Parts: sequence; structure tokens; C-alpha cells
Amino acid sequence: MTEGKVFLVGSGPGDPGLITVRGRQLIESADAVVYDALANSTLLPPGARETGRPELYYVGKRGGAKDPVTQDEINQLLVRLAREGKRVVRLKGGDPFVFGRGSEEAQAMNDASVPFEVVPGVTAGIAAAAYAGIPVTHRGLSTSVTFVTGHEDPSKPHTQTNWSALAKAGGTIVLYMGVKTLASITDALMKGGMSPETPAAAIQWGTQPRQRTVVATLDTIAAKALEENISAPAIIVIGWSVVLRDELSWFEKRPLFGRRIVVTRSTQQAQALTEKLRDLGADVIEMPATQIARLDLAPLREAITELSRYQWLILTSQNAVSIFWEQLLGEGRDARALAGLKVAAVGPATAGTLLEHGVAVDVVPQRFVAEGLLEMMRERDDVASKRILYVTGEGSRDVLPQGLREIGAEVNVIAAYRSIADGQGAERLARAIEAGKLDLATFTSGSAVRGYVDAIGEDLAAQVPAASIGPQTSDALREAGIEVKAEAKESTLDGLVSAVVSAV
Ligand code: SAH
Repeated sequence: MTEGKVFLVGSGPGDPGLITVRGRQLIESADAVVYDALANSTLLPPGARETGRPELYYVGKRGGAKDPVTQDEINQLLVRLAREGKRVVRLKGGDPFVFGRGSEEAQAMNDASVPFEVVPGVTAGIAAAAYAGIPVTHRGLSTSVTFVTGHEDPSKPHTQTNWSALAKAGGTIVLYMGVKTLASITDALMKGGMSPETPAAAIQWGTQPRQRTVVATLDTIAAKALEENISAPAIIVIGWSVVLRDELSWFEKRPLFGRRIVVTRSTQQAQALTEKLRDLGADVIEMPATQIARLDLAPLREAITELSRYQWLILTSQNAVSIFWEQLLGEGRDARALAGLKVAAVGPATAGTLLEHGVAVDVVPQRFVAEGLLEMMRERDDVASKRILYVTGEGSRDVLPQGLREIGAEVNVIAAYRSIADGQGAERLARAIEAGKLDLATFTSGSAVRGYVDAIGEDLAAQVPAASIGPQTSDALREAGIEVKAEAKESTLDGLVSAVVSAV
């Protein structure tokens, strides 16, 4: 009757790396994705929101939905989409069959004769514990583990859970959805004979940069979780293996854990820096302070058709390389057109991008600033009186072309792009600053600083200290009234990351 199909996919507990390979492949080939609050939104295909492919349906309760979607409505939506012939991914937090009502959705698909598959996921009860340094079993400490829902309040007359039997079982108890009922659950376990001294931990937002862990005993965990404002989503682990956390905690010990760091590089370049910071545990807020807009490229195309007139080509950024290359190919030419040219780049990233296009640069300065390149070019005997094509961004400093002209070179400066403020990114950034608790903002160029200040205003900008990639960027920051807390010793992304680590 239908060609469509529903895939009940576990997204894992929040760390986007914890989805299964099968789950990720299904998302990539889906016609529609129906997801809820606990499924990490970074797992959704990039661009889906803008393009509507795949179609996205948010059916979560958390996150500002005024009328939460009912389970019936979710079931109906899944059936309708499948009957339209679509491959539907139903993305659910953790594992779909562990307290996730995935089994009810599967029953509803059966009732409607819609075919389905189940893709298990890493469940929060195991993963949050592991990320807190707590194994749910351990030889000599715990030989069994029980997953139990806290929805069954023991103080109510009807409960399906036999709390006093659990109290006597002796293994680890992993409690889901148990924050609100924690006091009466711990009471029931103690009444059932479990020692009040049994170690217990509450882990909120497990596996995510905002993970928080509170450790106490069965007797005190409810009060302590309340005092520390632990709220859903949280996992409570009760049992002797909790003591191993002292030795085995790893996630919360990474150098940038718990730090909230703004990345302000332009959209196209932010990712590498973001990944490096996240690997060290940072909660990265990506704020594309700038985006790259191409300027009128007729002058660049003209220069490319006359490339043989030049002896040197200087490219000041990865953006300059990308745009130059795209225009070169657009003119029906390729790397061979650069055969007679010497090529210089201002920094290693730019040189690296050139190498990807098959061009090894002749000069990269030791100091990755215009002055560094100028120094090196001045020392050479093949620069004076030569023709130089210089491709850069609008508003870049004229130290280099000026200095080259002084030694007798003829420099054609072509501004190929402009950095422009990104409206949406700016708004998110402003809200995050107002909410407080941003530790640091990272900057990789003076134009990023200017874009940032233009976008959110001087007052907000001055509230967050900065880490800068080098002296010029630091100057731009100070000029803007922003405290420079750290400056990279080497002007590379890795240098910037080291500066961030030493600053926090
Ligand atoms: N199917 C999910 C559980 C859904 S029930 C799974 O297998 O993990 C929702 C409960 O899961 C929350 O109330 C909380 O107890 C737990 N939970 C889900 N994600 C969590 C996370 N990242 N950290 C801590 N608890 C989480």
C-alpha cells in the first residue's frame, strides 16, 4: 500500500559523535526527519532548514513549544509522511526503546501497516554515567544494573516498580526522569533496606559540554541535587561503582571543560577552530561575526587574462585564494597559468590552501603578518622593478603594497571580497552575552574584530575578554576597548588554541 518507511533512530545522549553509523546514514538519505528536544540538533543535515530537504518536524516538549505535540499527533504525522511515500527518520534521544516511547510508535506503525525499522542508540543511563567517570558495572563492586523510570512515584498508591526488591538486589540503579521524585524514591530504597551510605550521583546534560555532576549518598543526593539546581534531563546513578568517579572522571577534566568560548571567524572558516576547541572540552558558541561577500570581480578577471605580465602573485588569505582560483577556472585556465610566476602568501593557512591547488609558495614569512612578508620580499633581488598582482580583502592594510612600491615594484592591488556582519549570528551572540557566563571570544583578524563590534555594539563587545591570533588583531581589539587576555605566540589556529588554554 505504501512505499514509505519509518526508521526509529536513536540519536544518542547528546554528544553528536555518539550516534551510530547507520543512524547517520539514514538521516543523510531521509526525506523527512521528525525529532524531539533530546536529539542534538547538530545531527540534522546542514542546510535542511533553508532548503526543506529533508523536511524537518520538531515535536519536542522542551525548547519553547507552547502546545506540546501529543504522542497521538506524532504517530499520525509519521503515518502520514510514510504514506506519502517518504523515508522518515524518527530521531529520538538515547535509545528509542529505552523509556522513549519508541515501542509505542512502532506499534502505531504496525496498526497503520506502515513498515518500520529500529536503530538502537547509546542510552543516557550508560553514556552519562561513563562521561561522569562511573562504570555501571565493575568487578567486585556491582554485578548488575537496573534501568528504572522515576515516573513511578513510590509515594503514590499505584506503582509498578517494586522499590524494596530493587533495594535488595545489590547492583547499580540507574534512574531516568527521576529528579522530581528523587526524595521519595531514595526514601523507598532506604525503607527497603538499602544502606543510606550507598554512593549516588546525579548527572545533568550528560555527554554535553554543559554536563554537570553532583555526588552524594543515597541519604543526601535528593537534597544536594536540589541545592545544586540539577533539573531534567538528568540521570541518577545509585551504587558502589560511583566511588570510581574519583579515579575515572575524564570528560570533566579536559582543559577547556565548562568554558564557554565564542568563535568569531567567518562562517566558511569557523569549523576548524570550533572543532579544536570542542576537542578540549569547550562549549563553543559559533558566532559568524563576518561573512564573505564577493566584490566586483571584473578587475580580477582582467588581471588573470594578463597574468603573463606579472612576475609575482601575492595572496593574503584563504578567501583570496578561493576567489582567485574560482575566477582562474572561470576564465578557462588552471594552475599552469601560474607557471612563470613567483607566489607568496602571508601565512601558512593561505600557503596550505594554495598547496591544495597544486601550488607551492616561494615565500611565507616567519611572522605571519604583512610586515613579515615585506621584510622577506625586501631581502630578495627579484622583487624590485617587478610587476606584482596582489589579491586581498577590502579594507586590508596597505603596509605591504606600500612597502613594495617603495623598493620599486609595481603593485596592482585587487580587493576581491568584503567581510560583512552576519545579522542572525549577531543576535545570538548578543543574547549569550546578556545571559552572562561567556569566558572568552576568539579573533583571527582585525576585520573580524570590526565586524564583531559593528554587529553587537561596543558595550556588549567590551564585556567579553578576547584571545587574539596575533599582534595586529590584538591592536584592533584594544582599539575597540576589548581586553586582550591572550595572544597566540604563533599566528596559526593551533597557536590561538594554545593561547586560549593558557588564558582560562
Ligand atoms: N530514550 C532515552 C531516554 C528518554 S527518557 C535514552 O535512551 O537515553 C528522558 C530521560 O532520559 C531524561 O529525563 C533523563 O533522565 C534521561 N536523559 C536523556 N538524555 C540525557 C542526558 N544527556 N543526560 C542525562 N540524562 C539524560
